[in-house]
Amino acid sequence: MVNKPTMELRWDPTLREWILVSNIRRFRPWQPEGFCPFCPGNPETGYGWRALILENKYPMLMENPPEPGLHWFYKTSKSVGKCYVVVETPEHNINDISDLSVDQIEYVLNMVISKVKEEMSRDYAHYFLWFRNKGKEIGVSLTHPHSQVYVLPFIPNRVSRELESARDYYSEKGRCLFCDILNAELKDSVRIIYDNDHWVSFMPFYSHWPFEVHIYPRRHVQLITELTAEEVRSLAYVLKVSLCGLNHVFSGKSMPYIMVMHQAPLKGSYPFYHMHIEVYGVMRDEGKMKYAAGMETGGGNFTYDSVPEENAQRLRNSVLRNCISVTK
Ligand SMILES: [Zn+2]
Ligand SMILES: [Zn+2]
Ligand SMILES: [Zn+2]
Repeated sequence: MVNKPTMELRWDPTLREWILVSNIRRFRPWQPEGFCPFCPGNPETGYGWRALILENKYPMLMENPPEPGLHWFYKTSKSVGKCYVVVETPEHNINDISDLSVDQIEYVLNMVISKVKEEMSRDYAHYFLWFRNKGKEIGVSLTHPHSQVYVLPFIPNRVSRELESARDYYSEKGRCLFCDILNAELKDSVRIIYDNDHWVSFMPFYSHWPFEVHIYPRRHVQLITELTAEEVRSLAYVLKVSLCGLNHVFSGKSMPYIMVMHQAPLKGSYPFYHMHIEVYGVMRDEGKMKYAAGMETGGGNFTYDSVPEENAQRLRNSVLRNCISVTK
């Protein structure tokens, strides 16, 4: 086998989805133990910043990627796009963004919004996926608080399924699926974690992960760039409170989680869609991880080892006990 640098998209014709393939991470130089590339004072970071968006040095997507290999049977495509790292604070020893001030979270949100605006005009940019992996259980190797952005040449699978459902729902009922979910959650109220004038944070009726939290804007908006300054400020607060709650559910243990922003694609018009943030807290109990195993990964359907109403109550109590007094 030839061991050459490869970077391409490979199409799975059975599930009809793209796989991002790259072996260039293997050519990553060795770094000394304890070295943090995101701390201030490194060649890439410099000094005098509150937060930074850096290009990922070992990306899965590039603006000028190599030509994909041609296969006689399978479909491939260019890995064109961008991968960024959002360094959320100069401070290295912070457990989570819930420990940052509301001002700082707001600052980070505004940086992400500027990045969406900048990427929007690029031909390759079909989707802007902002996500955050937290905890070594999720496989995070660098502990300095950071999140990531993938600017994709396609619409990612889960979003694509949501768009399809929302489009169908709209053509059938003439209403937004997400607005209706929000209303149902508010009416039930037992799964609400926290809400304010602009946002509602709740554990959905149909949660997949043990501590799954969705954060919806009350206003029907498609993109993060459409939020008002007040809505962004208010989102910073809801994020802080919700993540703080998650980190305190289990005594002395902070919650490993995955957070992702779902918004409309950058090209085309999706008036039936409603942006939101999803957080998947993966601990099901003190010291017990929920794994996506046989049924989940092999079968594609989740099992839930409790009921969301119970976990929502635990999370709500955690918020009330530990997080509500945090300064606005
Ligand atoms: Zn650092
Ligand atoms: Zn809506
Ligand atoms: Zn979603």
